[in-house]
Amino acid sequence: MTRPPERPALTGETLDSLTARLRERGEPAFRARQILEWMYKRRVRSWDEMTNLPKALRAWLAETFELMPAQLVLNRQSADVTDKLLLELGDGSLIETVIIRAPQEGVGLEHSRKTICISTQVGCAMGCVFCASGLAGLKRNLTAGEIVAQLLQVCHREDARTPRARAELASFDNIVVMGMGEPLANYDALLEALRILNAEWGLGFGARRITISTSGLVPKITRLAEEDLGFRLAISLHGATDEVRERIMPVNRAYPLAELLPAVRAFSERHGRMVTLEFILIEEVNDSDDQAARLRDIARDLHAHVNLIPYNTVAGLPWKRPSLARQERFAGVLRAARVSVTLRREKGHDIDAACGQLRLRTERDREPAAAGG
Ligand code: SAH
Ligand code: SF4
Repeated sequence: MTRPPERPALTGETLDSLTARLRERGEPAFRARQILEWMYKRRVRSWDEMTNLPKALRAWLAETFELMPAQLVLNRQSADVTDKLLLELGDGSLIETVIIRAPQEGVGLEHSRKTICISTQVGCAMGCVFCASGLAGLKRNLTAGEIVAQLLQVCHREDARTPRARAELASFDNIVVMGMGEPLANYDALLEALRILNAEWGLGFGARRITISTSGLVPKITRLAEEDLGFRLAISLHGATDEVRERIMPVNRAYPLAELLPAVRAFSERHGRMVTLEFILIEEVNDSDDQAARLRDIARDLHAHVNLIPYNTVAGLPWKRPSLARQERFAGVLRAARVSVTLRREKGHDIDAACGQLRLRTERDREPAAAGG
């Protein structure tokens, strides 16, 4: 039996593409805006809630588009301030989306600053040796509609839990593209999704509040610098010399520091704002004083912010985070040179919040028991 052809997701349509589809059907031009308003401003969960559309149009829409291409299968709330949503796609693939709350002094959690972390691929092909997302390689790219759906699922959750439900504003402050996958390896779908999130008819989310994290695909960084929307950029550096970086990130062989760093500088100059260098601290891999000093020099030279992240252990991998004393000592080398640096107090450790870990565990649970086991 053949499977029915997959319907495109409504969350992957732009105002222009939806207008064109509706025009083919002889619908008036204002319908596309009405539909997108139900989706992004009113955030309905069914076609039938789109009450100002004729019934026949609703029926056609339901046959033609998938309203929501990612379904919530698990929501794990940690004891601290991280919520992790596990979503299932049409083909059964699992992706994860994390909400991180940074409480503001003296007010309740619903007024905290919220950052949402989204995925762009199922798995990852980059093969960084410390990372759970890449352990099984790349399964596939996400579509633009699937990327946008992650945000809407989070909005639905936040709408349900906050009293100012259904405000015509996105209910979070920042988007970071730091979930599963290498975002710049799925460039076109990523940019399409970010344009939908940014559009006035979409979520209206400002480009400056969107950070894209990359392991360092140089030609794509150069291309991103040329886009009219000024997204923020974070680079997963994790090694301050080619020797150390290459050991843990195969991408460094294709794009060594001598190519990566000038591309980062060009991006930062073009957009006039600081780039973030992400540096996970892994014991006896990249936590030496020498690495700290070299990282300090790179950051000063690029006028970049450094985000130090104590490594999150991954079941089955040998890497460990350094002691607190070592972490502080490393940060101290940068601070002494007045480099802008944060040593991340980790959030969500108790729910496996790091890259790819919840999905990995759930997939392992789903696997049939090994023969004889
Ligand atoms: N592929 C992109 C974005 C997703 S990874 C990138 O590599 O930048 C988001 C961040 O989580 C990256 O900086 C990545 O190196 C980091 N990361 C991966 N595994 C981690 C772990 N076990 N502990 C801490 N950070 C991790
Ligand atoms: Fe992919 Fe990023 Fe993980 Fe590297 S760190 S394997 S690029 S998701």
